[in-house]
Amino acid sequence: MNGAKVELRGLRRNFSGTTALDGLDLTIEPGELIALLGPSGCGKTTALRCVAGFEQPDEGAVLVDGSDITRVPANRRDAGMVFQSYSLFPNLSIRENVAFGLRVRKVAAAKRHARAQELLELIGLPQIGERYPHQLSGGQQQRVALARALALEPRVLLLDEPLSALDAKVRVTLREEIRRLQLSLGITTIFVTHDQEEALSMADRVAVLRAGRLEQVADPATLYDRPATAFVAEFVGTMNRIPGKLSGRTVTVLGQDLPVEGDVPATSDVEVLVRPETVIVTPDPSSEAMILVSSFRGSTSRLRVQLGDLEMLADVPGHDTVRLAPGTRVRVELVERPVLVSASSDVAAAV
Ligand code: ATP
Repeated sequence: MNGAKVELRGLRRNFSGTTALDGLDLTIEPGELIALLGPSGCGKTTALRCVAGFEQPDEGAVLVDGSDITRVPANRRDAGMVFQSYSLFPNLSIRENVAFGLRVRKVAAAKRHARAQELLELIGLPQIGERYPHQLSGGQQQRVALARALALEPRVLLLDEPLSALDAKVRVTLREEIRRLQLSLGITTIFVTHDQEEALSMADRVAVLRAGRLEQVADPATLYDRPATAFVAEFVGTMNRIPGKLSGRTVTVLGQDLPVEGDVPATSDVEVLVRPETVIVTPDPSSEAMILVSSFRGSTSRLRVQLGDLEMLADVPGHDTVRLAPGTRVRVELVERPVLVSASSDVAAAV
């Protein structure tokens, strides 16, 4: 099995006045796992359904390996899909569920049973073929849904929030399993999620959508370290917003002068976007700033620091918590590195 190249070209879709897709362009390379990430209503599911064929765009095209499939019906597309709700057929055994697509295609019984067994082995559940969906846990049902989606050896796998209904521990395990399977099969995969951690940990690239358009697409590290816009910066990971004064491409913030990267607003009063791990906190009895809360997280602790009217988050090594207890007066500095700035109204939609 090898993955197809999928191209979304200028996809537009309106639902009686609501713009779900507003000219979405995105190319997914063969064998790539791409996550569609964004706030509720930004069009992730609609985009996925356009690739599956469950939704027709008003304008634009979906191409698979260069052929326009925009008007090809869903059942003739070379794609498997997994939904948030497990959506197995309750009255069919697990084996019959997995083999369902093969039966529709009139594959002989012996052959489809053998294939179903192969798939159950692939998902690590070789013993459950004779059981029924209600006898399985949520995580097992979702594995079976994945096996069913892979039964016809599609060249594109579409996953619509497949882990959202599962509890935290199963979610993390299944995340790794899906990724391992996807890599070993080399299947092109589009994964819809609103969970940034899920997107960053699984995807080759993450596409951040905003109001039906592509805001940025990049590999996880680039997205986190060098977000192209304030919206992406705030949506992916945690950001402090600290008032600063901009002059050219330098911003003065907390008494420090830092270089600015990315777009620069027209105003000199800006907000500087700073990750908690780039805030340095040092005990200093003469300082105004004070630690309000310290949340121990194991390898790190997250501090909430009061600085005049401002509250900031800072991540410090977990074992520093004793030295940095609530009530401690501290000096706050920023790591010397380029920062993003924004006009204050810019990111309101992301919060
Ligand atoms: P969520 O994370 O909440 O599922 P999403 O990013 O997947 O959101 P979509 O489900 O694609 O977003 O929806 C985008 C917009 O289009 C929303 O405003 C939604 O209400 C609207 N929409 C989607 N499908 C339909 C439909 N069948 N009829 C009417 N409006 C729709």
